[in-house]
Amino acid sequence: MTNRRDFLKRASALTLGALFVDGITSEASAATRNSMASKILGLQTYSLGPELSQPDLATGLKKVKECGYTNLELAGYREGNIGQAPVAEFKKLADDAGLTIISSHLTPSVRGQYSKDNIEQIKDFWKKATEDHNKLGVKYMVQPSLPQCNSLEDAQYVGEVFNAAGEIAKQGGIQFGYHNHNYEFNRLTAGGTEPISFAIRGYRPPQGQEMPKTVEEIFIESTDPSKVIFELDVYWTVMGGQDPVEWINKYANRIQMLHIKDRLVLGDSGMMNFKNIFNAFYSHGHQYFFVEIEDTRSGKQFDRIKASADFLLASDFVK
Ligand code: MG
Repeated sequence: MTNRRDFLKRASALTLGALFVDGITSEASAATRNSMASKILGLQTYSLGPELSQPDLATGLKKVKECGYTNLELAGYREGNIGQAPVAEFKKLADDAGLTIISSHLTPSVRGQYSKDNIEQIKDFWKKATEDHNKLGVKYMVQPSLPQCNSLEDAQYVGEVFNAAGEIAKQGGIQFGYHNHNYEFNRLTAGGTEPISFAIRGYRPPQGQEMPKTVEEIFIESTDPSKVIFELDVYWTVMGGQDPVEWINKYANRIQMLHIKDRLVLGDSGMMNFKNIFNAFYSHGHQYFFVEIEDTRSGKQFDRIKASADFLLASDFVK
């Protein structure tokens, strides 16, 4: 039978053991925390859907910071507001939460194709957007979606419009950029009437003809590097049948930001080689990336962005 003295002896040994183990653990975790603290993670706020402003935006932004993020890329700009909040109010709440707004996604609301008929409307949109985004303090304004492009000439014209947008942004001290999905890996021919889908694997052009270029290549080649940069969504690049590492290396000076994205939570699908992606990206001197989760219907988006931040914080290839 255990007497009181034996019990105390054992309890004390256990406590010492526990303290000792704890000592090592807390030292190790302090080191890990320090290296984690130096990582600057970015989040595309679209990832949170309506949860960002529940119960209110101030609380949502503080939760983003607690999840491990420091940089933001916004979504939802419309006529002087980000979602429901006027830009100046959004900026103040982000500052209060300790978040830096680096970038913002926005698209001119022009239906159909870009043309000489709507170019002035598009320019007016970017002029107003530049004013509003200076109140947000962003470095980048990024167009995230593809205007209609059926031919090489269509995409080249869109490139001209991007140059015009880039010039307007530049005059206001902001860098313009473009973000891809998978449709930018469709191919376009001169005088074509529809894209050749990226989904056709192993496509070969008719004999004697060159491989038609992808929309993304045409955009990169028809825009001025001083006016238009590219934000590569690495997940959509893979879904478009391409290797993001090859693109990051081939267009090292043009692709200056990344969307770090997986099917859902980062690292869960196993299909994304984030290590090679980050290594290539850093090797060209770039730093800004934004985590994105595109399905926002779970009701648990904060859990998803937290799990994604934890994945990056635990990955030694993220600096
Ligand atoms: Mg994206």
